[in-house]
Amino acid sequence: MIEQLAVLGSSGEPEARRDLVGMTLAELCTFAEDVLGERSFRGKQLFKWIYQKDCRDFRAMTDVARALRERLLEIARISRLEERSVQRSRDGTIKFLWGLEDGLQVESVLIPEDRRLTLCISTQVGCPLACDFCVTGKGGYARNLSRAEIVLQVMQAQQHSPDRRISNIVLMGMGEPLLNLDNVLPAMEVVQENDGLGISHRRITLSTVGLLPQLEEFGRRSRLNLAVSLHGTTNEQRTRLMPINRKYPLEELMESLRRFPLPHRKQITIEYILLKGVNDSVADAHRLVRLLRGLPAKVNLIPYNNNPFTEYETSEQRDILAFQDVLMAARIHTITRLNRGEDISAACGQLGGYKQQRPRPVAAAGAQEQR
Ligand code: SF4
Repeated sequence: MIEQLAVLGSSGEPEARRDLVGMTLAELCTFAEDVLGERSFRGKQLFKWIYQKDCRDFRAMTDVARALRERLLEIARISRLEERSVQRSRDGTIKFLWGLEDGLQVESVLIPEDRRLTLCISTQVGCPLACDFCVTGKGGYARNLSRAEIVLQVMQAQQHSPDRRISNIVLMGMGEPLLNLDNVLPAMEVVQENDGLGISHRRITLSTVGLLPQLEEFGRRSRLNLAVSLHGTTNEQRTRLMPINRKYPLEELMESLRRFPLPHRKQITIEYILLKGVNDSVADAHRLVRLLRGLPAKVNLIPYNNNPFTEYETSEQRDILAFQDVLMAARIHTITRLNRGEDISAACGQLGGYKQQRPRPVAAAGAQEQR
């Protein structure tokens, strides 16, 4: 659905201007024909100006006829997120806090690595799934993000890296993306388009707790990579950590993953947060091996990041290594993820800044830049 913003027209009456951000190439071409009464290639021009050249001002779109630019000024707009804060970690990670038009806020995290620049984006304000170890889950849920709000996280984070393009996107920030598929998929279509941001579907990963009906729908509608948060190897353990496991227990989830349509040579990524004394034993590792039998999967082990909002603790290094050894002995491709941006609470499960609902920017503090 195309968003609209009520503004005061010349008569003083409210009028609606269409937000063009979040519209796909096909939708902008249709908009050019049906609303502007132009040929469809005008939609492609708009698409390039908005997404490739990051232009917000219709007046600056020099290859668009003057009369059309004036019409666009009257009926359309190009929205923006308010940049409330930008925090830079010692390791180069950057955490953004974005203000939305209704006063709510979300976070995204830009993570530089040797060969990649990965952006972790949010898909909801808060999250209704209430995983016990997750700061976002502790803060409740407000609403889904719009397509524009999803795409703008990518566009505006890119501005903070003028010399290096964002190469990878992970939908692993705040929220459960499968609960917002109707906005997530068109937003990722925009991001992939060559005339737009040009990020291949091979470099975009959607991470989910495993909502089974939506997982099937995602498999049918998209070629994006899939990551699934497992975090437990028995139903009792996983339900304690992730209440959604009551509805979709492990056996059903694993069965559904075995049916998931994987394009040739692709694997599912299994995310597993290691929590000291909870799910990090060698017995857990062996159970995980059995769960994954026959599934084309690799495992991301994520040592937990201590934080004041939960009682969970980081596993001992020797337990992490022992866990990893069991998986590798079973020939499961295993990566132990480095914690990035810990000093700015940007690491996995730490995104919670949206809870300080602030209508306006506040004064700078420490490593934090304010705009
Ligand atoms: S881990 Fe993901 S699904 Fe669970 S509460 Fe946090 S954001 Fe939601």
